Amino acid sequence: MPENIGFVRDRISRAAAQCGRSVDSVTLIAVSKGQPATQIDAAARAGLRNFGESYLQEALEKMRAVSERDITWHFIGGLQANKTRSVAENFAWVHSVDRLRIAERLSAQRPYHAPPLNVCLQVNVGGELSKGGASPEDVPDLIAAIAKLTRLKLRGLMCLPPAEDDLDRQRHWFAQLRELFDSLNKSGAGLDTLSMGMSGDFEAAILEGATHVRVGTAIFGPRTNTIQSA
Ligand SMILES: *Cc1c(COP(=O)(O)O)cnc(C)c1O
Repeated sequence: MPENIGFVRDRISRAAAQCGRSVDSVTLIAVSKGQPATQIDAAARAGLRNFGESYLQEALEKMRAVSERDITWHFIGGLQANKTRSVAENFAWVHSVDRLRIAERLSAQRPYHAPPLNVCLQVNVGGELSKGGASPEDVPDLIAAIAKLTRLKLRGLMCLPPAEDDLDRQRHWFAQLRELFDSLNKSGAGLDTLSMGMSGDFEAAILEGATHVRVGTAIFGPRTNTIQSA
């Protein structure tokens, strides 16, 4: 797996170089859902520091197992209201905020001794019914409302677009999110994060300005642990 991390880092460097960006402008989040804690430990030893999880219960168990490692945890999964407290208590970032009620709960439940919780608003750029995320037309009002929540630090936008094989089609979806991001920033939103790109399409995402790529299988291989409840 250290070898896979090297391959992924090379792909990130090449994509960044291709569009004249510094490689340091892209943060690699290792998506460890469905992987045992031993794999997280090995990836941390190989130098990774940011890890993403989608299922709360599974994440909490693994966090305990690798608690001696210096890890920044990102929650990237669908979030129900009854899970927000534990997410607010245990993660540094949430990429999958998709409605105001969830943001309000995360803000109210973020512990006072912790820094504000970093959040991204997930946007459903492809309009797919099977996927979470706010509709693009609702984004400006949601951004304005979330920005007022004192225990959150609103960082930017996230998307999980339709899967495409072709680079230009991949770029098309990521460009939608970037254009929304640029227009919000023109109105003073002050966003600094575009969380987009996974194993199959992160080069396209980097070409369109991704600051955070979320990469699972290209690092860890196929997911083995299938716990997806809670
Ligand atoms: C699973 C997942 C990923 C990683 O997907 P891979 O194809 O394994 O790289 C990234 N983002 C989200 C939101 C995910 O659920």
